[in-house]
Amino acid sequence: MNTRLQRIVVACACALGTVMAAPALAQDGPPACPAGARADFHVHVKGDLTLDEALRRSRESGITYGIAINGGLGFPIDTDAGLEAFLAEMRGRPVFTAFQGEGREWVRLFSRATLEKFDYVFTDAMTWTDDRGRRMRLWIEDEVGTIADAERFMDQLVDRATTIFATEPIDLYVNPTYVPDQLAARYDALWTPARMRRLVDGLAANGIAVEINNRRRIPNAAFIRMAKQAGVKLACGTNNAGAADLGRNEYCAEVTRALDLRPEDFWCPPADGRKAVQRRPLAR
Ligand SMILES: [Zn+2]
Repeated sequence: MNTRLQRIVVACACALGTVMAAPALAQDGPPACPAGARADFHVHVKGDLTLDEALRRSRESGITYGIAINGGLGFPIDTDAGLEAFLAEMRGRPVFTAFQGEGREWVRLFSRATLEKFDYVFTDAMTWTDDRGRRMRLWIEDEVGTIADAERFMDQLVDRATTIFATEPIDLYVNPTYVPDQLAARYDALWTPARMRRLVDGLAANGIAVEINNRRRIPNAAFIRMAKQAGVKLACGTNNAGAADLGRNEYCAEVTRALDLRPEDFWCPPADGRKAVQRRPLAR
C-alpha cells in the first residue's frame, strides 16, 4: 500500500472510530512483532484445535500465534513436501509460521530452502540418546525408565541441550528445562545455578531465544532472571496438546509482572536473512 493510500485508510478508520487490529487480516509477510505476552509462539493445530478455532481465539484474545508444524524421524512429516503443504495452508493467515524440529535427526531430513520459508525454527531438548546409547523421549516414562541417579541424568540433559544449541540452527529453545515427571518434584533443586548457567551461556553464545512455557510453567523465575541478565531474549509459548491447553499466556504474564520484564527483554522472530537456518549450517 502506498503512503498516501495508507493515510487515507488510517483517516477513514479514525473517522469511523475503528480500532485497527494488528496483525492485518490479509497480508503478504508475517505479522508485526507483538510485545511480551501478546504473542504465543508455540501453538499446534492438533487434537481438537482446528486452524479456524485457533484463528478465532487469536482474534478474540488479541494474542498473535505462531502456528508450528512438527517434523522429524518417525513423525508423519519427515520430508520437505510435508512442510511445503503446511506453508501453503498458512499462506495469507495472520499468524507466524514455525517449524519444530523433532529428535536430533531433523537437520538431515529437511532442506534449508524449505526451512527458511518459515518465520522461525525451534526445538527442545526432550529427545536424545543417553550415555548408554538409548534414545529417549523424556515425556514417555517407558523410554526413560527409572532414573536411579538424578544428578547424572541432569548432567547428561545439560550436555545434550548445550550440544543442540551449538550444533542445530534454531531460533528458539522451547519446553526449556523440562525434566521427566518422576523428577518434577525436585525441579528447583536439580536445576542448580551451575546447570542453569551452562544452558544460559549456550543460548547466549548462539543467539538463541528461550520460551516461557505456559502449559508446564517452565522455566522457573531464577532461570528467566539469569537468561534476561545474559541478554537471552524471552518468548511466550504454550505447546498445546489440544484446545483446552491454550489459555492467555497466564504464566508468561505472571512472570513478566513478577520479574518486571520489559518489551526489550522479549524476542521477535528474525528478519529474513537473519534466521538461524540462514546463518548456520543445517548439519555439522
Ligand atoms: Zn511443540
